[in-house]
Parts: sequence; structure tokens; C-alpha cells
Amino acid sequence: WPEVLDADFYGFQDQLTEEELRSVARIRAFLDAEVRPHADRLWEEARSPRHLIPGFAELGMFGAGWPETRHFDNSAVYRAWIALEIARVDPSTATFIGVHSGLAMNAIGVGGSEEQRAEWMGPMGRGEVIGAFGLTEPTSGSDTARGLQTTATRHGDEWVLNGKKRWIGNATFADIVVIWARDTADNQVKGFIVRQPSAGFTATKIERKQSLRAVENADIVLEDVRVPESDRLANIHSFREVAIVLRLTRAEVAWQAIGVAVGAYEAALAYATERHQFGKPIASFQLVQEKLANSLSNITASIALCMRVSAMQDEGVQKDHHSAMAKAFATARMRETVALCREIVGGNGIQLDHGVARFFADAEAVYTFEGTFDMNTLIVGRAITGIQAFV
Ligand code: FAD
Repeated sequence: WPEVLDADFYGFQDQLTEEELRSVARIRAFLDAEVRPHADRLWEEARSPRHLIPGFAELGMFGAGWPETRHFDNSAVYRAWIALEIARVDPSTATFIGVHSGLAMNAIGVGGSEEQRAEWMGPMGRGEVIGAFGLTEPTSGSDTARGLQTTATRHGDEWVLNGKKRWIGNATFADIVVIWARDTADNQVKGFIVRQPSAGFTATKIERKQSLRAVENADIVLEDVRVPESDRLANIHSFREVAIVLRLTRAEVAWQAIGVAVGAYEAALAYATERHQFGKPIASFQLVQEKLANSLSNITASIALCMRVSAMQDEGVQKDHHSAMAKAFATARMRETVALCREIVGGNGIQLDHGVARFFADAEAVYTFEGTFDMNTLIVGRAITGIQAFV
């Protein structure tokens, strides 16, 4: 203890406390024992690792930053490092946890009243209640702030929700789904905790995905779904607060992207030292070393950037454009890295058995969700110029 991550070339982990490092080492051991051996099979079978929920909860992996659920005082950098470690072993597992612990718990943590937080955060932290986050719609992805079509109409102490959602992770088995809908009275986006099962709510698994296959995504239909006023997220008044949730989770997805790159890099490095061509290990060829060096440089630059963006969260100075830059930069570097690593593994690189193919395929979804590269880049562009280019 603690086994260091070789891909942490500049030793950034030194900035974690001893307690945080011990926790990272415990989580890494659990991932190696319980997730790594089954990741390819679950990916092929397109099944989420739901059987591991109690183990993840016991290790404090759900809602680690919230007072109701954290196992010990910890930093945003520690929590980010956990996201890296999970994605390094399995990006689908990182996304499955990211949806529950990041999107759904942050929605309730940021948007919930004290009573709502008291009701949900503990059970979600213990993994007794699993959450999903329904923002994207069939006709609205990048433009949800203005294009969201799902409606919420108030009738006395109840709201009636109607609309469709697309791509919603965990929604086929979640106990609660946070649904974002437009209030027909003031036209603002509001958040609703939809308990499962609910009459009028259906979630159908999206089949035939070729990226993050072990994340179960769903198409949702809401037909006159009734939600009590007490389950409307009390502190969400408009899309402005949804953006706060996305700011937190985007910074974490940037760390997941680093994990995806590290997973591919480690597999490619191992392969390069074992695989012989022209009577030598391919690692001895200059062009292969260049690919490895470029991959490690991408990883190192991304960690450096993301260390700062996470520290800014603890300092209370992180803005939307800070996490947007981290997400755009880290996912672009990830995409380049998984391609270089796939190349190093040659033809075997397209087969699951040789360790890089899953990362190569999964990188595409990580590049796209929680704001595409384009949208996050344009958020940075808006901060630079003061001009919003995406509307
Ligand atoms: P579109 O918005 O249709 O974009 C298509 C292309 O056009 C992109 O390249 C985009 O960058 C570009 N584009 C759009 N507008 C502009 C512009 N103004 N300027 C320049 N380029 C532009 N959503 C949830 O709510 N909950 C989830 O749990 C969830 N999980 C997901 C899991 C996976 C595996 C995937 C693939 C998606 C998930 N999503 C989820 C949805 C995800 O957030 C969206 O896919 C993403 O925001 C992009 O939206 P879109 O797919 O509709 O693409």
C-alpha cells in the first residue's frame, strides 16, 4: 500500500491524503477482483454490473462528497480519482455509477429540499435506492436548455408529466428517475423525482449499442404520470440549476475520460512488450514508443488540467466554462489515445480479448455524453468572447 498508478507519470496522487490513498487502494483492489474479470462478458451481454451495488456502497463510492453519505472527509480530487480508477477498469461501470452517484444524487443534493435530501441521500448512498437522470429527449440533446419538450402541468398538489426521454442510463431498473420537464405555467425547466413503478411511465432498453454496452440506456415514455408536489425538486427553478448539476458531473466525466485513456494505455503497453515482430518486442521500435509517449503525454496533461478543475470545486470558484474545458480537452485527448493504443495492438486491437477494443469503443460515448465536444468547446468560446455561438 498504496500501489501507485504507473500512468500517473508526474505523481499527482501525492496530493491525496493518506486516508484518501488508502481508500483509492481499497477501491482499486475491489475493481481488479470483482469488475475486471467480468467486464468483457458484461459488455458483450449488454448487462450492468448490478450485483456489485452493495460492494460499491460499502466502499463509499456513492455520493462520496455529500455530508449525508460520505464515509470520511474527502476532496473533489479524491472523488475524481475514483472516477478515473473505475473507468480505467471498465468505462461502463464508471458510467453506471456516474449516473446514479453523479447525475441523480447531485440533482437531489443540489436541487432537493432538506426533507428530500433526508429521504433519498442515505438510501442512495447505501445503494438501497438506485437513481437515473432523464434530461435528453428524442428531439433534444445539445439544446435541452431551450428545446426540452416534456411538460409538467400542475393540478392542485400534483403534477402531470407528459413527454419522451432518450438515452437514460439505469432507467430500466432504477428505483427513482429524476425527470426534467417544462412547467406549462412559467415555461421554466423543473425537476421531478419519479418513483418506480409509476403509472404511465415506461422505460424500454435501447438495444444494439456499440459503445458502453454494459450501461443499460432507455427510451422513456411519460403519459400522464402523476407526481406529488412533495416530489418536485424544491430548489430547481429553471435550467440554471440543472447547469449546476452538469457542471459538477462534467468535471467528473473528464476524469472518466482519463481513466478510459489509462485503461487503453496500460493494455497497449503490456502488449507492446510481449508482442514480437522482426525478432524484437514491438516496444523496441521508435514509432511504437512515440505512440506510447504521446498517449502518456495526453494522460498527464489531462490529469494536470483536471486536478485544477476539481480543486476549484472545493474552493467554490469552479464555473461552467472551467468544467466544460476539462471535459472537452480530456475527452479529445482520450479519443486520440485510444486510437493510438488500438493501433499498437494491431489486428488484435479490434478484438475484446486483447484489452483495448472495449476502451476504443466506449470512448465514443464518453466523448458525446454530458455535452458533446462541440458544445463544451462553445461554452469555453462563449467565456472567451462573450458571444454565444451555439444558438
Ligand atoms: P445532437 O444534439 O443531436 O448533436 C448532434 C451533433 O451536432 C453533435 O456532434 C453536436 O456537437 C452537434 N451540434 C449540435 N448543436 C450544435 C451547435 N449549436 N453547434 C455546433 N455543433 C452542434 N442523457 C440523459 O439525460 N441521461 C443519461 O443518463 C444519458 N446517458 C447517456 C449515455 C449514452 C451512452 C449516450 C450515448 C448518451 C447519453 N445521454 C444521456 C444523452 C447525451 O447527453 C446526448 O447524447 C448528448 O448530449 C448529445 O445529444 P444528441 O445525441 O441528441 O446529439
